[in-house]
Amino acid sequence: MSSPAAAAAATSAVAESIWQQIKSHRSVSEDHLSTLHFLFGKNLERAARIVDQGGVRRVSAAPSGRSLFLVVGESKRKEEYICFPEHLCTCYSFFYDIVNRGEQLCCKHQIAARLAEAVGAHREVQLTDEQLALMLSKL
Ligand SMILES: [Zn+2]
Repeated sequence: MSSPAAAAAATSAVAESIWQQIKSHRSVSEDHLSTLHFLFGKNLERAARIVDQGGVRRVSAAPSGRSLFLVVGESKRKEEYICFPEHLCTCYSFFYDIVNRGEQLCCKHQIAARLAEAVGAHREVQLTDEQLALMLSKL
């Protein structure tokens, strides 16, 4: 009776409740880590490494209050990806593994953004709406 789509929805719901718990405690317990590891596998370790290296920035634009994340990749070039944690990332893996092949729920940058936000480990960047629009126009 269980379809891949139903399994993915259940996984998302579990992940969502873990992020909320981490956020309310501002810390990550062993239980949280083991559940997240079960859900995301190796991508969780990669995401944690990005967060540890200070690779997550949250960009907020005024006056709209719109926000997105910039997450540094792990390749040598250290490119930054524009990341909407629940919906989209501009990295190659997001389009290849997630959109095309449907093998994963989200990429490591999305996990890094959620993790950094949940524990408050991201840096804040303030932009105007015009600057944000310019950034998005390059997508
Ligand atoms: Zn990504």
